[in-house]
Amino acid sequence: MANNIDREKTRKNKTENIQTRTTFHTRLETAKTLADIFEVVKTAVWESRRKSRGGLMLGLANLGNNPQGFFGAFYPVGSNVIVMNKIPLERIKETRPEIYKPYIFHILLHEYLHTLGYLDESGVRKMVLEISIDVFGDEHLATGIAKDTAHYFNNLVYPGASWQPDDMRMELVPGFDRGSTSYIG
Ligand SMILES: [Zn+2]
Repeated sequence: MANNIDREKTRKNKTENIQTRTTFHTRLETAKTLADIFEVVKTAVWESRRKSRGGLMLGLANLGNNPQGFFGAFYPVGSNVIVMNKIPLERIKETRPEIYKPYIFHILLHEYLHTLGYLDESGVRKMVLEISIDVFGDEHLATGIAKDTAHYFNNLVYPGASWQPDDMRMELVPGFDRGSTSYIG
């Protein structure tokens, strides 16, 4: 039994090892939902860092206005939910559709790294850049955003680890983290 599981894991790892950057470009381009993009994020972290976790939920909420700019998302430390800021998401989809998916990838990757226990902000941003280069190469928009976030989103800021919204009404995104069991081990 254990051997079968090990073989299954080895097979999965091998399959993932041969994925090229082209595959990641295609995966992101063909992703249709937030859940699809999260699968791309998880695979990217697995490919690049061999780290994963399951059991996460995604919520959408209005995270309000902040003096320094807008938050893309936040992760309440110790929880199992990533909360994306709904208003900028909708605005970017309408006004800058070409950057919509790279933006989501960037934001979810950042928060996913927090859920893996990386809480240092500058460390996480550095990892986001390294992973983006690993899976997409240098020229991709997701890498561009990671390199120079302000160039693409001059108001985007990242909440500190202890930040909490005033009002936490959120809707849960169905089908998020559907592959959660496949990487546990
Ligand atoms: Zn952060």
